[in-house]
Amino acid sequence: MPLGLIKYGLSSGYPGKRFLSAQPELKSSYDVIIIGGGGHGLATAYHLARYHGITNVAVLEKGYIGGGNTGRNTAIIRSNYLTPEGVAFYEESVSLYRQLSQELDYNILYSERGHFTLAHTDSALRTSRWRAEVNKHLGIDSQLVYRDDLARLIPQLNLSEDVRYPILGALYHPPGAIARHDAVAWGYAGRAAERGVEIHQGTTVTDIEMTDGRVTGVVTDRGRVSCGKAVQAVAGASTIIANMAGLKLPIRTIPLQACVSQPLKPFLDPIIVSGSLHVYISQSDRGELVMGGSTDPYPRYQTSSSLDFIEGLMSHVLELLPHLSEVQVMRQWAGMTDMTPDFAPIMGETDVENYYIDAGWGTWGFKATPVCGKRMAEMIATGRVPAMIAPFRLSRFENFDLVGEKGAASVGH
Ligand SMILES: Cc1cc2nc3c(=O)[nH]c(=O)nc-3n(C[C@H](O)[C@H](O)[C@H](O)COP(=O)(O)OP(=O)(O)OC[C@H]3O[C@@H](n4cnc5c(N)ncnc54)[C@H](O)[C@@H]3O)c2cc1C
Repeated sequence: MPLGLIKYGLSSGYPGKRFLSAQPELKSSYDVIIIGGGGHGLATAYHLARYHGITNVAVLEKGYIGGGNTGRNTAIIRSNYLTPEGVAFYEESVSLYRQLSQELDYNILYSERGHFTLAHTDSALRTSRWRAEVNKHLGIDSQLVYRDDLARLIPQLNLSEDVRYPILGALYHPPGAIARHDAVAWGYAGRAAERGVEIHQGTTVTDIEMTDGRVTGVVTDRGRVSCGKAVQAVAGASTIIANMAGLKLPIRTIPLQACVSQPLKPFLDPIIVSGSLHVYISQSDRGELVMGGSTDPYPRYQTSSSLDFIEGLMSHVLELLPHLSEVQVMRQWAGMTDMTPDFAPIMGETDVENYYIDAGWGTWGFKATPVCGKRMAEMIATGRVPAMIAPFRLSRFENFDLVGEKGAASVGH
């Protein structure tokens, strides 16, 4: 053991300063209450405090920060979506992510790897070409590549034609990245708390109070609290909390599972996705292969894993990377994803005055964490809906003005 470490362990400076100070008592009133201590809620709190000077803010989290989908996702970050609204929005998030370690002075291990969406059929190739053209038109680095390119760019990939779904080509998005998801939550939490934001873990919101159509407070299992404004950022529980405010959301909550392998020496740099095989794979900084697929077949509010999922997933992984047949799966888990009909999020104002929503993040919301924090905070602080998020308003479902992202948002996240 290094001498410095022993000295530190025995010194009065150990243990060091805690990342979050001891949890305070709940005050009777806050300017802004944020329900949900995932990445979105914490990033919103940080932006309110840092860029708008609003610090009388409480984040109420029923479990521990980042313990929801933020700490369960597979951390894929990209902007090669299909609609102009989606591309612009996710591209702003990618720009913010690139600077986030410096912004928070906290290493989120942001790592650009390149993102490949494999095409196994002529129609999938056609869709990839369509996406590549839309992306290029909107300034996104995205191109169609074929078998020869893939043999060079991902030599590990099984390009045999003697398999169920031979690979014909791929949509290649060089900026596709991964990051350390807990670090994102902790970085935002730490920097928000330093500026006076209160983060209350183990605090469940059980009701929303309203007077004359305006939010006035929330009820929690630690008592009632008044507020000037409130925002819900509770992926996986969006419909439940919205119901408390009398809002109906067009959302179905469906579990999404993922798993990791034993750690391996680095051998796979890019992120590989196959929509036809319902599988995606990347290798984390710890060497584990991070693997996932599509959502469970039916909606429910539960996070159990299934043998069925892991068996199906592994057969598809081995079709792409057969040399992994001896590798062991170490852990498997699930999160609850809120799926919207158009595979786009719901952000903005609601019919309840001063009550804002950040929901419908399905399988794609980790990559949007920084842009959500920035734009939600801007809306709360100024009272105006930023143009960047206006297309994702809840009322679009009444007006049939959808943002159709299904072709770009499902298995590929
Ligand atoms: C397996 C899996 C893989 C994924 N992979 C990706 C990916 O690769 N890329 C990507 O972009 N996205 C991915 N996602 C989606 C992404 O994880 C989510 O969209 C995103 O994390 C949502 O962040 P959030 O802060 O809104 O929600 P969460 O992190 O879920 O935070 C919401 C918080 O609200 C709290 N809460 C709920 N009810 C209450 C209550 N009554 N009172 C107080 N607090 C409450 C919860 O405890 C939770 O901590 C994946 C999701 C899963 C499940």
